[in-house]
Amino acid sequence: MSDKNDSLQEKLRALEAVFLAKLPSRLLEMEDALGLFLQEPESKAHLALLHRLLHTMAGSAGTFGFPEVGAQAREFEGRLKPLINGETWSKTMLSQYAGDLRRYFADSIKSAENKPASIDIDEDADDTDERVSPRLVYLVDHDKALTEAITLQLEHFAYEVVSINELKSLHVAIATRRPDVVVIELSFPEGKMAGAEEIARIRKLSRLRFLTIFVSNTSSFESRLLAVRSGGDGYFTKPIDIVSLTDRIDAVIGREEPKGYRVLVIDDDAVTSEYYGTVLRSAGMIVKLLTDPSQLLKVMTDFRPELLLMDVYMPMCNGIELAKIIRQDNSYLDVPIVFLSSEGDLGKQLEAVQSGADDFLTKPIEADFLVSALSSRAERYRSLRGLIMRDGLTGLYNHTAIKEELAAEMSIAGRNGGPLALAMIDLDNFKGVNDTYGHPVGDQVLRTLSRLLRQRLRRSDIVGRYGGEEFIVIFPSTSAAVARKVLDQVRIAFHKVQQHSDQGDFAVSFSAGIADLELTTDADELFDSADDALYRAKQGGRNCIVVASGQS
Ligand code: GH3
Ligand code: MG
Ligand code: MG
Repeated sequence: MSDKNDSLQEKLRALEAVFLAKLPSRLLEMEDALGLFLQEPESKAHLALLHRLLHTMAGSAGTFGFPEVGAQAREFEGRLKPLINGETWSKTMLSQYAGDLRRYFADSIKSAENKPASIDIDEDADDTDERVSPRLVYLVDHDKALTEAITLQLEHFAYEVVSINELKSLHVAIATRRPDVVVIELSFPEGKMAGAEEIARIRKLSRLRFLTIFVSNTSSFESRLLAVRSGGDGYFTKPIDIVSLTDRIDAVIGREEPKGYRVLVIDDDAVTSEYYGTVLRSAGMIVKLLTDPSQLLKVMTDFRPELLLMDVYMPMCNGIELAKIIRQDNSYLDVPIVFLSSEGDLGKQLEAVQSGADDFLTKPIEADFLVSALSSRAERYRSLRGLIMRDGLTGLYNHTAIKEELAAEMSIAGRNGGPLALAMIDLDNFKGVNDTYGHPVGDQVLRTLSRLLRQRLRRSDIVGRYGGEEFIVIFPSTSAAVARKVLDQVRIAFHKVQQHSDQGDFAVSFSAGIADLELTTDADELFDSADDALYRAKQGGRNCIVVASGQS
């Protein structure tokens, strides 16, 4: 944690250095604007330019460690207000203002020169999309045959599992390599509650953090209470339902993960937007910076932000107009828009809120405060969106959502000229599963496949439930041949998962069809091609994957 803070501080200092380096040229730019303004005091354009430069300076100087420079800029900005409202100045007033402003330029240059030397700035690499790293699970039970069987099942879900059969080995194992989760039996030869007691002891002795799920043959209140008191995050009675166990593991691990909200920062000032971008990235958010508002709609489709943070004043069009443009599109009616501006004028703030903004924050702003203000808004948006866009049974994208995702990904691929593959998956003989084992068991199978797809595919691959027992996977930047290889591993793993029912265990398979952009760049045609390939997989005997004809 402190490492993270240190590196944030370092980055922020580096950005301050950039601001410092650019300060002289910004002051010169303002001096030019002042010159133009004095030549033609009645020109609205010259007045607006000077006003905007002062306004930007007022907002950014405070942020980058020059509060005095910022405060004075705000004062000069304020003095221009009557002119903007149509008043005119006498020659004396003009030269008074010009004299004050020139003194301000000179003072600011001096205070910049007195700042300590700058640091090198490193251009941060883009967020890279990586394969989900396997979670380390310690499975602790005296029954060796049982741990072996469960290990095998858990591995299908792409966890890394270490089975431990001696309770006394657990402490050393944890100290050697910290697991994400310990799944442990309550009772051992050492005692009826020895598992819970050992966990409590290890927690007391070491400061290592790990999550614990207890399993037991009994469901008594007494043992559940002890499990809670030992710091348990979950409790399962045997025989263990693997799918529920993996659900639980993911839920407890998920609580620990930073939420990567997608935030779009719009500010015409590159250094300022980089500053806020750095703050938000350090808090685990995925940030895109936009300095050219005319690119807005394209970025909205591709990046699909969960929050917009924008400046009010920008040269081409202002933030309030941008907010209105965004709200005109039905798909963005509810995405949160937060203004971040040095604008102190209440009337302007009100206008911003009326244009559809959700909040108005004033620069400069504390990093922590910014993060918490944005997180709560993004969180609410995400959970609302989740209800609309997710399938209730599996939590995957639903039919509508997956089509939107495909449109967005195809648009990105179209621009980059990169590949993209689409897979359509259908469970084999699923009607038979329902008929033999009952509908609830069928539902369990659907959830197993959904979980397996999410676990075993890359984070960038997008999984949806297209309908009934049909699933869709979008593989961005991937050819059909590669997608087929990846999906084939899921197919093999899925067929190995034992599905439980009162009538005994059984296995299910799926078939899939894959097509990619080599074949067509039309979304509907891509669906049709994948569907044709799926049909051929079914004809070919099921439990296999076929790539659309015309593709290798
Ligand atoms: P094929 O291998 O040719 O795909 O055979 P199939 O039996 O899987 O295909 P069919 O289309 O005949 O049957 C699909 C079955 O999927 C019928 C339907 O009851 C079942 N199904 C669809 N949605 C759900 C659901 O949400 N839950 C459960 N349990 N079953 C579902
Ligand atoms: Mg079907
Ligand atoms: Mg089917």
